[in-house]
Amino acid sequence: MHYPEPISKLIDSFMKLPGIGPKTAVRLAFFVLEMKDDDVLDFGKALVNAKRQLSHCSVCYHITDRDPCSVCEDSGRDHSTICVVQDSKDVIAIEKMKDYNGLYHVLHGAISPVDGIGPEDIRVAELLKRLQDDEVKEVIIATDPTIEGEATAMYIARLIKPTGIKITRIAHGLPVGGDLEYADEVTLSKALEGRREL
Ligand SMILES: [Zn+2]
Repeated sequence: MHYPEPISKLIDSFMKLPGIGPKTAVRLAFFVLEMKDDDVLDFGKALVNAKRQLSHCSVCYHITDRDPCSVCEDSGRDHSTICVVQDSKDVIAIEKMKDYNGLYHVLHGAISPVDGIGPEDIRVAELLKRLQDDEVKEVIIATDPTIEGEATAMYIARLIKPTGIKITRIAHGLPVGGDLEYADEVTLSKALEGRREL
């Protein structure tokens, strides 16, 4: 079917989002056409501003609108513990349970040879650099309980071992193959509490 060009463009844009197929993209595009002008403008601005105003913290690589991020900058937090996660959504999930008072390190991915993702493609080197600081006493590895997450945890543990810093892995109350960000707060809290030393 042929749509006027502005609509086709809108449909194409929606199709670039994860989980949006052609049918949904068409539905969303037509929904936008029915929205109030102000709402569409706000939506557009929110998209552009989120992209423009957010960057990665130069210390922990969590998304932030200021650098360093509010977590890294908070002197009330335990700067001797770093929790390593795969992405920023995991930080938000852990922060939501309000049980953890340490810092974070966001890897932005996991090692996955099948997908051609090696250690140099994620923020591992940056983590090791942070550990040169004597302040760090424990690294909690909270990568996802997937094959990639486990491989990444093992890889990082091997690298850190010689430093003598305590390395722990969150417990497996988490569903195997699951995503950390989707774990409920109680499960996540237990997983963190029951972490074992590697
Ligand atoms: Zn930070």
